[in-house]
Amino acid sequence: MLLLTLTRHGPTPLHQQITDQIRGLIDRGSLPIGSALPPTRKLAEHLGVNRTTIYRAYEELWSLGYVEGRPGSYSRVRGRAPMAPPGAPASAGLISWDSRVSPGSADAHRTYLGFSPEGNHSTPDAVDFSRLDMDQRFIPAESFRRCTNTVLRREGANLLCYGPRAGYWPLREYLARRMQIHGIQVSPDEIFISNGSQHGLDLLVRILATPGRGVVVEAPTYAMMIPLLRLHGAEIIPISMNSDGMDLEQLERTLARRDVGFVYTMPNFQNPTGVSTTQDHRERLLALCEHHRVPVVEDGFEEEMKYFGKVSLPIKSMDTRGVVIYLGTFSKILMPGLRIGWVAADRGCIEHLVAVRRFADLSPTALLHAALTEFCQRGLYDLHVRRLHRMYRKRMRVTLQAMREHVPPDLATWSEPGGGYLIWVELTRCARFPEEVYAHIAQSGVIVSPGPYYFIEPPTRPCFRLSIAAVDERRIEEGMRRLGRAIRDISGS
Ligand code: PMP
Repeated sequence: MLLLTLTRHGPTPLHQQITDQIRGLIDRGSLPIGSALPPTRKLAEHLGVNRTTIYRAYEELWSLGYVEGRPGSYSRVRGRAPMAPPGAPASAGLISWDSRVSPGSADAHRTYLGFSPEGNHSTPDAVDFSRLDMDQRFIPAESFRRCTNTVLRREGANLLCYGPRAGYWPLREYLARRMQIHGIQVSPDEIFISNGSQHGLDLLVRILATPGRGVVVEAPTYAMMIPLLRLHGAEIIPISMNSDGMDLEQLERTLARRDVGFVYTMPNFQNPTGVSTTQDHRERLLALCEHHRVPVVEDGFEEEMKYFGKVSLPIKSMDTRGVVIYLGTFSKILMPGLRIGWVAADRGCIEHLVAVRRFADLSPTALLHAALTEFCQRGLYDLHVRRLHRMYRKRMRVTLQAMREHVPPDLATWSEPGGGYLIWVELTRCARFPEEVYAHIAQSGVIVSPGPYYFIEPPTRPCFRLSIAAVDERRIEEGMRRLGRAIRDISGS
């Protein structure tokens, strides 16, 4: 008979103790493969426990793959593959993931590893101008919690099922109305809610980019777009950015010669340069794309962040022929962790997005959509936007003022955006290698986002992006003082 020792009044139930001890005997080879376990009745008598206790233990051993034959018949020890131990995986894995993944994925991984604005050089109290996520202190968590409670109480389990694939209808209605503020006339069924606009971009790349077809991007462009396009095998066609936006003559030549899947542009507060294009530029870009029947993907990631003077309406506001696919997001102004963005486009395009989502992530999170709708319908979003405008208008003023004070104008040029969070700096008299420049800036206690992240071909001059999203006025002042000193050092002045 098996030698098992039971603790009668301990925390572990008796059947569990029996299971664990028999497993131990099998693992150590004391119970050889093929040997019969004692009949349940006999073992129960022997241990002085109820027969159902043994029965449960044998059932457990069976479901763990340690025995064959169900209790009742004779159970025999089964040779089972060893269980993987907890903790670190086996030292020599059989699959070499770096060579197994697709070339696009390998490229994305390399790019991912290379993203480190602070490199190894940052100081502990560095002022971090690299982060584009808004200041956490402005996130209205408490009022959002109340909205979540309200909708959950009101709609209950409906919000915890798979939600509608294109998004919660009242949110689509709200966004269709909201878009009118920006001159965009779309109906709710021309709106698709994505899990953040990065998700929208991913889906758009999947439906519009095919290997061999080009995708036009601004140079520099949004850094995440480059590996994303490569991941899907698209050929990236960079078009230079001038001080007033993408070079339209270069675009015209490209569209005339190449098969282009779409043109990706950020007309407002472009990431990374902060440049906003003029009305005239927008009209000409749209006319060109209409002429060549090429979709425009307009990324309005900071559309709501207009806080100085007048900024032109989105290109989508002039789209009478269903050419423009507009992307919006709540990430830059409300809560990045919500992961809610949207695509406003022609119904035909929306249908394709819905189909691809069906196979990618099934459906979005209706609960969050409903909570956000409640938040917006209570007027809390409008209040929040006004508050953020006040805060960031002040920050941007302080930043530009501090730059003028601390950065010598003969050593650098920079953009002065009418909103958003971004300022683009180019060093005009610095002959150092780019790595040296970024390392020196980091050692001086400032973290910037290095220019090469945003280009396909390395830029000709040292350049970098500054973001004021997560830095307050006091730190901005200090950061600019340090940056000015660093620029003077590396420009040999
Ligand atoms: N577009 C641009 C230009 C961005 O900068 C970002 C985020 N940094 C996104 C899209 C994606 O934002 P999200 O997915 O959080 O909406």
